[in-house]
Amino acid sequence: MTEKITVALAGNPNAGKTTLFNALTGARQHVGNWPGVTVEKKEGTLRHKDLEIHVVDLPGTYSLTAYSLEEIIARTYIVESNPDVVVDVADAANLERNLYLAVQLLEMGVKMVIALNMIDVAEGRNIHIDVKKLSKLLGVPVVATNGKKRIGIEDLLDKAIDEAGKLPTKEVRIQYGTEIEEEIGKIEKKLASTNGDFGRLSSRWLAMKLLEGDADISRKCEGSNGREALFKQIEQSRNHLQDIFDDSPEILLTDARYGFISGALKQCVHVESTDRVHLSESIDTVLTNRLLGPAVLLVVLYLVYTFTFQGSDPFVQGLDMVFKWLGGLVAAALPEGLFKSLVVSGIIDGVGGVLKFTPLIAFMFFAIALLEDTGYMARIAFMLDRVLRGFGLHGASMLALMVAGGLAGGCAVPGIMATRTMKEPKERLVTILVSPLMNCGAKLPVYALLIGAFFPDHKVRMMFILTIISWVMVLAAGKVIRSTVLSGPPAPFVLELPPYRVPTMRGLLIHTWERTWMFVKKAGTVLLAVSIVLWAMMSFPSLPEEKAKPFEEKEAALTSAFLAEPAIAPAFKSEKDVTDFEEFRKRFEEGDPQELEKLNPLFFGLAKAVKDAENGASKKVASPESAAAAAFIRYSAEKAAIEGEKQSTRLKNTIGGRIGVALETVFKPMGFDWRTNVALLGGFAAKEVIVATLGTAYSLGEVETRKADNLSEQLRREPGWNRLTAFSLLLFVMLYNPCIATLVTIRKESGKWRWTLFAMVYTTVLAYVVTLSVYSVGSFLKLGIT
Ligand code: GDP
Ligand code: MG
Repeated sequence: MTEKITVALAGNPNAGKTTLFNALTGARQHVGNWPGVTVEKKEGTLRHKDLEIHVVDLPGTYSLTAYSLEEIIARTYIVESNPDVVVDVADAANLERNLYLAVQLLEMGVKMVIALNMIDVAEGRNIHIDVKKLSKLLGVPVVATNGKKRIGIEDLLDKAIDEAGKLPTKEVRIQYGTEIEEEIGKIEKKLASTNGDFGRLSSRWLAMKLLEGDADISRKCEGSNGREALFKQIEQSRNHLQDIFDDSPEILLTDARYGFISGALKQCVHVESTDRVHLSESIDTVLTNRLLGPAVLLVVLYLVYTFTFQGSDPFVQGLDMVFKWLGGLVAAALPEGLFKSLVVSGIIDGVGGVLKFTPLIAFMFFAIALLEDTGYMARIAFMLDRVLRGFGLHGASMLALMVAGGLAGGCAVPGIMATRTMKEPKERLVTILVSPLMNCGAKLPVYALLIGAFFPDHKVRMMFILTIISWVMVLAAGKVIRSTVLSGPPAPFVLELPPYRVPTMRGLLIHTWERTWMFVKKAGTVLLAVSIVLWAMMSFPSLPEEKAKPFEEKEAALTSAFLAEPAIAPAFKSEKDVTDFEEFRKRFEEGDPQELEKLNPLFFGLAKAVKDAENGASKKVASPESAAAAAFIRYSAEKAAIEGEKQSTRLKNTIGGRIGVALETVFKPMGFDWRTNVALLGGFAAKEVIVATLGTAYSLGEVETRKADNLSEQLRREPGWNRLTAFSLLLFVMLYNPCIATLVTIRKESGKWRWTLFAMVYTTVLAYVVTLSVYSVGSFLKLGIT
């Protein structure tokens, strides 16, 4: 019979656990979940020297406090399943941070071997580690490994098996100084007089954890006799230490452990500082200087911003034109009908509306690659970390937030993608989740419309207020998310400051290309599906015959009245002449007057007169032509009004319109009727759709996003609208559900539909609560109602 042993792999995220796991077990592995949670559990077996070795890949953790799910899983496994040996995978290139976990394992008295992984990276950075000495200092075997090239794996296995066969090692004792040691001793004594059963955990370790306020261990003590005395002692000890050191015991113990580590490292790690490092240090005295640093940072952010948005603008406009041209081409080629509407309004407008931003994304990635590859990104994180940390974010979040629209006009998609530079999973996820609250460029047309209509004298002030509100929302949401769904202490990490270097163009272009292509691929496919769904929602069911009829009759009556007017007699004799002339005008607007004049001099004269009249340049002497032109203009406007009303009725009848009507029960309390609701529904696809849909709903036909003056006036005249409604809608549009492209990006970057759904729900709930509160308070105080 072969003997079986169990080896658990522990380590910081990205230290190379999974790589080592794969190198050890090859294909013989099984992936499942840890009991009761959705954290992935990998297990595998291998045979080595007549032994059957069972390997378990623990979740990556920085620490063994009981704050995060990963930490609890890892600790519970080590304590309760009692593996024969733990292999702690440490990143040799970031040894100080990685040894923190090793030290905690040592203090638990776990039998362990340290795999000094990424040894190649460390050497590449001129970090030389005296492995023998480190092993001696820590009292456990240390093996240098390179998981990628499978170097040191055999040796690691041998040492692990050796260790597994030994008796439990004596735990390493870090000296915490007399004051703390005294308190640990007191708690240990009280622990001894309880009847709690803690298995193989040493009383010193338990006492330390209790002193740190570890909730998990406290809970374990709750059932035992003598707990009152124990808890009283813990309380006293914690207060005592807090009084003396003016810092919590958690921090005191953490500091002591880091002190231990840095002492150990001083003895066995030698870093050859190169010229580059010296140069970097002198650059840093300027760039991270307390006063100059932030100033330089602001300039850099401003430049990134300008480069991204202004630099890419001509290309974005160009692509926009390409999509418009394509739409026109397809529109001309296809017969009138549903299919045409699907292809032009659904697919080309929908997908093109987002894909036209591809150049912007590429420019942004280029700027980010430049910041990363030069090493400046690490300095940004360094300078802003203290401030943002207070809100559950991270220094590196700043860049993502700026790009997402920290100054109005960004875009959440590249913002979220920019979080790739962040290594800490929770801080990164929070940044991803709050980025959509920023004022992205697509919200601006809506702002422009509403501010123009209701706050025309305070444009700048309103934009400033909206910018401040979005920052407040982002920071508050970050704080709340980080202390609820993503709770846990900030990852205890050292912010690394790599040396500055001159990036290579090739590297920059490769980075840019890879990331941009990913955006196109992902956004392109999902967007297509969603655009079609939204188009269908806004198109079906079509207006039934009997409801369309009144409009057609009105239009027919209008046309015959027009044809009966004497002023137009020479040009128009029948309805067909009218449609012909409309066609002619389109061509007239587009060009080649000489040819047109030859083709139909009568129409040509009239088209010119119409144009003159529209430009306000009608001649003083009323000519027959100008009278006809005036009649035609009147007729066109009335016809457009009927058509607009018809479109509005049509929209109200569609699924989207009906949802809008149904939503009135929920949104009426803040002043939104079905027209606003259906526009917000359209905003799911892309926020710029809101203005266009509002236009249709308010019977103005399709409103060009940039020329929304008519709509402004219309809204001002509507009885349901006032400054309070407008401000409420501004807030709602800022905060509610991220657009589809953003959601796709959240899914991709967070890896989970769960978080995507969370982003949709929390932003919309936030928008609703904030808007409703503002509207209610505003109505109560009668603000902005007149
Ligand atoms: P985990 O989070 O601890 O599971 O880390 P992974 O096994 O996923 O490794 C993180 C990254 O480091 C991957 O890109 C690996 O290919 C790389 N990696 C792992 N071990 C080594 C190593 O020894 N040397 C180098 N250069 N890279 C490594
Ligand atoms: Mg892994």
